[in-house]
Amino acid sequence: RNVLHWFRSKDLRMQDNHALSEASKKAKEVSGSLLTVYMFTPADMEWHGTSPARTDFILQSLKLLKGELAEKNIPLAIVTAKERKQKTDTILDFVDRHHVSHVYANYEYEIDELRRDIKVAHGLHDKDVALSILHDQTVITPGELIGGGGGPLKVYTPYHKAWCATVKAKPTLLDTYPDPSSNDASCKTAFKDLFASKVPQLSDAPSSKQFDSAEHRDRIRKLWPAGHAAGVDRLNKFLKSKVRSYGETRSNPGADSSSRMSPYFSAGLVSPREACSACLAHNRSAKADFISSSADIGVSAWVREIVFREFYRHTLIGKPSDSMNMPHNLKFDYVQWETNEDHWQAWCDGQTGMPLVDAGMRQLKAEAWMHNRARMNTASYLRTNLLIDYRRGERWFAQNLIDWDLANNTQGWEPSYTVFNPVSQAERNDPDAEYIKRWVPELKNLQGKEIFDPSARMSAKEFAKLEYPKPIVDWKKTKAIALETYKRDLHSH
Ligand code: FAD
Repeated sequence: RNVLHWFRSKDLRMQDNHALSEASKKAKEVSGSLLTVYMFTPADMEWHGTSPARTDFILQSLKLLKGELAEKNIPLAIVTAKERKQKTDTILDFVDRHHVSHVYANYEYEIDELRRDIKVAHGLHDKDVALSILHDQTVITPGELIGGGGGPLKVYTPYHKAWCATVKAKPTLLDTYPDPSSNDASCKTAFKDLFASKVPQLSDAPSSKQFDSAEHRDRIRKLWPAGHAAGVDRLNKFLKSKVRSYGETRSNPGADSSSRMSPYFSAGLVSPREACSACLAHNRSAKADFISSSADIGVSAWVREIVFREFYRHTLIGKPSDSMNMPHNLKFDYVQWETNEDHWQAWCDGQTGMPLVDAGMRQLKAEAWMHNRARMNTASYLRTNLLIDYRRGERWFAQNLIDWDLANNTQGWEPSYTVFNPVSQAERNDPDAEYIKRWVPELKNLQGKEIFDPSARMSAKEFAKLEYPKPIVDWKKTKAIALETYKRDLHSH
């Protein structure tokens, strides 16, 4: 009898992996071998629009994980389900062929993935195979923090407060799970075929998942080295040199002072417990409390963002429609969006004529990542100034981001009455225009404030010399139109 841990794209690590750790314990208990599997599903990638950068990052990380596990005589098998409907049978078939008596996995909270797990649970039940699905993605289990009325907390500030109080009262929540113990060396022979199973190449993924060029692929691989060790290294460097000023500089996209840890959290290469424990250890030397802002050395502002990630998982399970292409505020589903393909293309290409928006969209293309402040501004511009269905933008982000995460992306894109002013946002957050100059080289020689809104602040003659597009829309007028449209469509139902 063997015990199986089923890796998903959100827990690709051996360290501090809740279900893997429990599976290892169970294997010892039943004197069986610990096997692991990852299911490659090209049709799922098409469905979600997964970017080539993310697909490649996952495949590269799997290769490293396979090597690490093999050192402990634990095989990582890769199975392929070509079609979405083949996923259940693929797992059930693996279980049959390898005499598995217990299956372990960590929760994925999106509706399709929960439905998949229910189907698998039925199939395993019919075979008398035990299934344990455990919470692993967050420090505090989604849904656990409740308000005075007894329901789950719905607003971020009280959630953050309750999160901090809970972790303070129960610091063991930050304890990490033990790594799996080694299998007997005889496993190498007994499961020879599993050890030999190959991690797919990016070329095995659908054609829409290929990079534009080998140079682009290599640049992305250099920017985002795969695997757990690379993630921990990045975390430590961030804590050592950047976290101290994070609170003051995090909104400045030019300063690039955030951790750039999002791809590592999104693929589960580094766990939030590991990150928070590292923060705690970092602050301990200063006798500071890592979640209170007093006597803190920069960490509490960063942990606040980690808690945001937890909050979005907490709200996702409370409202499954969030992962069904519906807005959180369902009334926004009534908005009559525009379909202007020229505007859409200009947004995708970073050619809108609004420097901060264009800088963000160009960074996305080049780095498969965008600074949070630019994400907020590019999203606001698409759904209000261009009045284009925010779901198109959401999907474009999925198709290009290396850190795509359904909970963070859909809730980042959530439509609302908040509209950003793309000029004052740039002036406030990118005061030296470093970010704009980096990504919009047409403007790099501008010295003064004209860079934030060149067509409005320069003479027509001087502007023409820049070879930079004129704004495709008047942002002041379109803001008013969007707010009127929202009001009309939301209140007409
Ligand atoms: P840091 O500032 O160093 O923060 C540390 C970690 O906290 C991040 O890695 C991330 O896991 C979490 N975090 C930070 N900001 C947020 C936030 N606003 N919401 C939720 N979690 C946060 N994040 C993704 O991981 N994947 C996405 O697909 C994604 N799409 C977004 C789309 C829009 C329109 C917006 C406005 C935000 C989106 N975010 C997304 C959230 C945020 O922009 C990124 O997590 C952040 O920019 C990643 O950079 P970092 O790792 O340097 O963050």
